[in-house]
Amino acid sequence: TRTPLIAGNWKMNLDHLQAVALVQKLHWSLKDADHDFDSVDVTVFPPFTDLRSVQTLLDADKIPFGLGAQDLSVHDSGAYTGEISGAFLSKLSVGSVIIGHSERRDYHAEDDQVVAAKTQAALKNGLVPVICVGETSEDLEKFGASAVPVGQLEVALENVPADAEIVVAYEPVWAIGSGQAATPEQAQDVCQKLREVIRAKLGDDAADKTRVLYGGSVKSDNIASFMREPDIDGALVGGGSLKVDEFSSIVRFKS
Ligand code: 13P
Repeated sequence: TRTPLIAGNWKMNLDHLQAVALVQKLHWSLKDADHDFDSVDVTVFPPFTDLRSVQTLLDADKIPFGLGAQDLSVHDSGAYTGEISGAFLSKLSVGSVIIGHSERRDYHAEDDQVVAAKTQAALKNGLVPVICVGETSEDLEKFGASAVPVGQLEVALENVPADAEIVVAYEPVWAIGSGQAATPEQAQDVCQKLREVIRAKLGDDAADKTRVLYGGSVKSDNIASFMREPDIDGALVGGGSLKVDEFSSIVRFKS
């Protein structure tokens, strides 16, 4: 059995002061609601400039949230102006890193090879890669929902050891920020196919252990319907992770 994971991808929102305030309020909100923190893993993915402040808060107040970054360099150090390495992230107690988000693929020309290289960079530095895959609306029309994400994941998993901890996030590009989430049935179908890719590449153990998330317009009023699906183990939440009450409700999808 896989512990559900609710991940908040803040994208380029919230400075370090707003970040600290949000994490503190989220923790209070969950405590006030008597939330069982062991039943669901929560990870926040703030911008790089917030990581140190959020890490200090999590530590000081013993807040049981994971800390993740939104991207990393394929390199460990060197003449790569503006880049942030996995080595630096793991020194900051960052545990996981989003890789291949569609906004990176789109605005920064990251292809499947870059995504594979970043996956290796994450693993090498002890970070859990949260590998994002998903089809655009054109892909959906031409190839159906699963062909593109399945192909993306196959490349990303090249040379990943069978015992590596990874997370896979299925985010249909047309569902991101659109208010138009996939149906639970559509999302389940693709997530099940992604789990079969994990099985083929990394074996049964990995397929059974790896959490596959759905992302794209996840809100407090649709999260439960996704979580009922057998191959959906959590959500990667964008807009809904920026508001305390909304994200708190998403985390408490069981109640
Ligand atoms: P929204 O939840 O805002 O649709 O964003 C999803 C996403 O891209 C998370 O990585």
